[in-house]
Amino acid sequence: MQTGFATRPALVFGATGTDDVVAAVSHAAGAGLPLGVQATGHGVPGDWEGGVLISTRRMDTVRIDPGTRTATVGAGARWGQVVAASVAHGLAPLNGTAPSVGAVSYTLGGGLGILGRTFGYAADHVRAVDVVTADGVPRHVTADSDPELFWGLLGGGAQLGVVTSLEIGLVPVARLYGGALAFDGREVDPADVLRGYERWTRTLPDEVTSSLAALVYPDLPQLPPHLRGRYLLLIRIASTGSAADGERLVAPLREIGPTVSDTLHEMPYAESPAIHGDPDFPHAYYGDNVLLGELDPAAGAELLALTGPAAPSMHVVQMNHLGGALARPAANAVPYREAGWLIRILSPLDGTDVATLRALHAEAFGLVAPRALGRSLNFAFGGNDRPQDLYDPETLKRLAVLKATYDPANLFTYHHGTP
Ligand SMILES: Cc1cc2nc3c(=O)[nH]c(=O)nc-3n(C[C@H](O)[C@H](O)[C@H](O)COP(=O)(O)OP(=O)(O)OC[C@H]3O[C@@H](n4cnc5c(N)ncnc54)[C@H](O)[C@@H]3O)c2cc1C
Repeated sequence: MQTGFATRPALVFGATGTDDVVAAVSHAAGAGLPLGVQATGHGVPGDWEGGVLISTRRMDTVRIDPGTRTATVGAGARWGQVVAASVAHGLAPLNGTAPSVGAVSYTLGGGLGILGRTFGYAADHVRAVDVVTADGVPRHVTADSDPELFWGLLGGGAQLGVVTSLEIGLVPVARLYGGALAFDGREVDPADVLRGYERWTRTLPDEVTSSLAALVYPDLPQLPPHLRGRYLLLIRIASTGSAADGERLVAPLREIGPTVSDTLHEMPYAESPAIHGDPDFPHAYYGDNVLLGELDPAAGAELLALTGPAAPSMHVVQMNHLGGALARPAANAVPYREAGWLIRILSPLDGTDVATLRALHAEAFGLVAPRALGRSLNFAFGGNDRPQDLYDPETLKRLAVLKATYDPANLFTYHHGTP
């Protein structure tokens, strides 16, 4: 949960079902108050005060139909619940790295998951959306019933209504070859790790999804000794191929230099959250990102140097290799399919103010700007300052028409996508 920004609503509806959501939307619309939704509070867009907030926390049912490989996911369900329910049937959802993240909002923002290059964005696998629009009307929206609204809800984020549940397709994945290789950035040159990793990604089949993370772990006694105070570069991998193919594919990465740890192994899908080990405790953070056509390793290395141990405060950099099924066109508003890379910077708000972090992020993203296409909605944390480049102009225009049709009074303002 994000604790860096304050949400101070005038009224909170603890919704238990669609009727409560309809009542909350009708109340906010009638009173002329802005309306926000919160499932987990991970994606708080910024400081927000005085409106009506719907908490969907209690609407967390997950139903699996193994015959049609479908999960019906309530608005408050977290990925951990959906994964647990799916693996019982030898199936997997297109979840992200953290079990504590809300499945619905993640999917509305596109959803870049650990199997992204094999199966595409989570939004590409949605079969139906149940949503309450600003007029208080509950709608069951499919690609057949209302293709334009269906298109806009998936990728458009939270700006068109309150989603009460999603029907999502599951994939027949019961196991993975995956884990992380960790290099000490003070022993192996980070530029060499990045160069080796980028070169390696050019050879990969679509069954491999991976990313590079770089961070200085704080010197805290709660952390295991092999992490404390270390500057680590972690290459995280999830492959749906066999363990033998995985071992063969990762061989060039193991030659980059000595590793601090190497957790690559075959695992049941239920174990996959261990690949990234995202924090599951509340904390304060500011984050931004850029989608690139290609990654220039020299510019990427400069970005690592700026955000690494010499930086005045801590930053977590992630470079996600895209392409594969993520590049396939789909009937939704997830933009920038041509992007080859996503670079994210997440900066804890541990005494450093947002303005200072914004300036550092601008400098860092400026280094890779010549290849920039835009930004990803899901990785804009507390950064509601320039929503325009979250979409290409054509997608932005189509979303604006939907917004004018379904929310002309701009009731839904509690998200990063409101221009
Ligand atoms: C630790 C961590 C790991 C992450 N990993 C990934 C990842 O691997 N891939 C990825 O794509 N993203 C990832 N994200 C980003 C995440 O998908 C977004 O922040 C997402 O919006 C969080 O949703 P939430 O429900 O947990 O948060 P919330 O703060 O509850 O909601 C976030 C936004 O969605 C809106 N919203 C929530 N529920 C609804 C609803 N029912 N209807 C309409 N709008 C709604 C809210 O109003 C708010 O604007 C990660 C985030 C964190 C904190």
